[in-house]
Amino acid sequence: MNTVAAYAATSATEPLTKTTITRRDVGPHDIRFDIHFAGICHSDIHTVRAEWGQPRYPVVPGHEIAGIVTEIGSAVTRFTIGDRVGVGCFVDSCRECDNCEEGLQQYCTGTGMTGTYGAVGRDGHPTQGGYSGGIVVDENYVLNIPPALALDAAAPLLCAGITTYSPLRHWNVGPDTRVGVIGLGGLGHMAVKLGAAMGADVTVLSQSLKKMEDGLSLGAKHYYATSDHDIFKNLRNSFDIILNTVSANLDLGRYLAMVDRDGVFVELGAPENPLVVPPFSIIGMRRSISGSMIGGIPETQEMLDFCAEHGIASEIEVIEPEYVNEAYERVIASDVRYRFVIDTESLRQG
Ligand SMILES: [Zn+2]
Ligand SMILES: [Zn+2]
Repeated sequence: MNTVAAYAATSATEPLTKTTITRRDVGPHDIRFDIHFAGICHSDIHTVRAEWGQPRYPVVPGHEIAGIVTEIGSAVTRFTIGDRVGVGCFVDSCRECDNCEEGLQQYCTGTGMTGTYGAVGRDGHPTQGGYSGGIVVDENYVLNIPPALALDAAAPLLCAGITTYSPLRHWNVGPDTRVGVIGLGGLGHMAVKLGAAMGADVTVLSQSLKKMEDGLSLGAKHYYATSDHDIFKNLRNSFDIILNTVSANLDLGRYLAMVDRDGVFVELGAPENPLVVPPFSIIGMRRSISGSMIGGIPETQEMLDFCAEHGIASEIEVIEPEYVNEAYERVIASDVRYRFVIDTESLRQG
């Protein structure tokens, strides 16, 4: 076992504090890497505050992890010491079910995916995430971060990036596809960048016009405030796909009416209450409603390579680990453009 410094939550109400955790020894198929950067995802906050069920405390959050390999197991073939690597939302899965065999580990029907934190690993120990100095992960669940991507701005791609890339790919977004993106936050700003890089005609649907300049410079062609009720009339049947990155409960009927015939509305956020779907809003134009959850290992690698090729990464604000509790409050207030990333250097030093 190996100890590393980390930031952990000890209860739903206490601030995160610095502590020490252990990582397993490097097994034949494992790699150990120094964590250099860890993004802050809203899911981290939901988890530590027990909003998605009671976690096993202490919890070290963080599933947007980027760093450099320091040790490899005897049977490791895909990585070597010094490689730039990343880990996203899961660190294992059953490896045997149809979905795992297809590289869709996020939909594992065997054991289910093993979350990067808050789950229990094959070794029987709780998994702990990226707000720490280092981690040991099976090489099959580790991504290569291409040289063209800076490690800090690449970290959020491992959750926010893949969560938006996967549905854009699944629904064949390409040149001139009309893409609507609801919300311009951590997920939304990546949806705009990725959609634009795929050649799509991207529209941001935000509560206000406050971030309009940002949205247009990130690659959106149009930007509308949903507080202006006329847009729901003016944009009827205007999109092939709408990605909803907002986790609030929306007046879904009005948004569905903006989807064109045979188009799809994709839910990426997780609102607290069930979705209310007026039947004629999907009957009328043969519209679909779907959801999508992160992406598998092969697609996550494809996304990182795509980002490197197109010069895309997250817009970030880099912070020290001590700032994490304040950062949480700002994430909740949507006061970040567009992702906090923790520089974990002080945690690597113990
Ligand atoms: Zn996340
Ligand atoms: Zn499986």
